[in-house]
Amino acid sequence: MRIAVVGSGFAGSLLARVLAVQGHQVVLLERGTHPRFAIGESSTPLANLTLERLARRYGLDDCYDLAAHGRWVERFPEIRRGLKRGFTFYRHHAGRPFAAQGRRTERLLVAASPNDHIADNHWLRADVDHHLVRAAIAAGVDYRDRTEVTDDLLKSLRADFVVDASGPPPGGFLARRLGIPSGLHRTQTNAGLLFSHFDGVRLFADVVPGLAHGPYPDDWAAVHHIIDEGWMYSLRFDHGVTSAGFVLSARGQRQLPVNASPDELWRHLLARYPTVGALFGSARPLMPIAFRKRIQHRLTRAAGEGWALLPHAYGFVDPLFSTGIAWSLKAIERLALCFEHGGGGPSAGDLARYDAMLSAEADQIDLLVAGAYESMAHFEVFAAQAMIYFAAVSFAEARQRLARQDSETAAWTGFLGVGDPRLGPLPRASFRRLGRMRTREDRRLFVQWVRKAIAPRNVCGFANPGYSNLYPVDLDELVRRHGVLGMSRDALVSALPALRA
Ligand SMILES: Cc1cc2nc3c(=O)[nH]c(=O)nc-3n(C[C@H](O)[C@H](O)[C@H](O)COP(=O)(O)OP(=O)(O)OC[C@H]3O[C@@H](n4cnc5c(N)ncnc54)[C@H](O)[C@@H]3O)c2cc1C
Repeated sequence: MRIAVVGSGFAGSLLARVLAVQGHQVVLLERGTHPRFAIGESSTPLANLTLERLARRYGLDDCYDLAAHGRWVERFPEIRRGLKRGFTFYRHHAGRPFAAQGRRTERLLVAASPNDHIADNHWLRADVDHHLVRAAIAAGVDYRDRTEVTDDLLKSLRADFVVDASGPPPGGFLARRLGIPSGLHRTQTNAGLLFSHFDGVRLFADVVPGLAHGPYPDDWAAVHHIIDEGWMYSLRFDHGVTSAGFVLSARGQRQLPVNASPDELWRHLLARYPTVGALFGSARPLMPIAFRKRIQHRLTRAAGEGWALLPHAYGFVDPLFSTGIAWSLKAIERLALCFEHGGGGPSAGDLARYDAMLSAEADQIDLLVAGAYESMAHFEVFAAQAMIYFAAVSFAEARQRLARQDSETAAWTGFLGVGDPRLGPLPRASFRRLGRMRTREDRRLFVQWVRKAIAPRNVCGFANPGYSNLYPVDLDELVRRHGVLGMSRDALVSALPALRA
């Protein structure tokens, strides 16, 4: 088939390459050129599992190496990245330095890997996307950059199928061309972004002494600083640069100084939260700090006859929980499998299924994140809400790795528990509960409810107060919970090496 892919972010380039490997004639059209700055950097275990499956199925050995920190550094030291051992969260309060307070410290660490070698990475997108576009060209993709995609150009290409990988507006190529209506009204989350890349950000442990020993060094993670106005991400790359941004809820934005420039807003927030101020006080932005009032977007359709959108072109919620890369890779795997069926490309049934999955998954991400915003005022409630995310992704990861799911099953199993009778309903149920929460007793009951609700899928002992919010990769706990995965103890023990592969 002749396939046109519009947009050469990592997702467009990777899908274009897979389709070329399958024997299709693929043209990849890019408005800009590489290398170029892009945001969306923190990868996760589920993302890496998908990358490894794509690598094995389609012979992309570079992607296999990019799926673990140690392999990446050995094979591609020139592609910049950051070690990511897990998810770190802190709650800050205006005017008060963050304090170590023993078991009451407002700090949550969830390890995603047992060591640095097989850890996840933050992707320096300029380098990763550039690498993947070059790999697509090497695989036979006809790549055209600095290209304005017009109807005439598409006609001249005689494409049988168009994939839109152009990201959100000002991308959104097919949304404009086909007049796909916005579905943003479905999205509960409403937040803007103040961001840049920085040099000279200090380590948390240097600024806040006396913290209990965690399962990994706090900073080598996706670090989340929760504040009254929303939260801040901080992703440290191995070469010393940090990608950081305040994600500010609509409510939070109303508390900010009016008509302030992005620089002034940045300084205002650093002054308001002394520990964040100490971390970033002497950091230097490597490009102008930028502000976007709202980052959510959503369309009403993700596929139709002869076309499909990748997730970032279809909808985006929020960087909280780093869902974007994993979701995009899942969609690439799905579309690639559809193109393997017969010679005519994805069937109407395939596309309807793809559309329905993306819609349900966008809702799921949104409810989970919107619930997290509702919970941020009380750290114990936020930590409980986060456990729904961690239970869902760890269960999926354990099933994929230990129960050795095939590509078809893994790709079409819903993201974040979509379609799972136990996990599927939880984000909506918790969002409702959080909206009704008023008293200290309500909060205690919520924490208790989450513990019970995730129990049937909880392979890692999440929401167990015994961990004091510091969750290692605990293989003994995993073995104890073999029944959750429907495996015998012996079967699980013999499958454990798959976790270290
Ligand atoms: C603030 C923020 C933080 C994020 N953090 C994370 C994170 O930590 N972890 C995570 O997993 N995800 C994160 N995401 C999501 C992540 O950015 C996306 O999942 C990812 O960028 C999707 O990649 P993509 O290749 O689909 O699209 P993009 O990276 O958006 O690439 C789109 C490409 O299309 C090109 N293009 C646009 N319009 C046209 C056109 N008309 N014609 C031709 N080409 C066009 C663009 O130039 C660009 O090269 C974050 C997103 C935001 C906004």
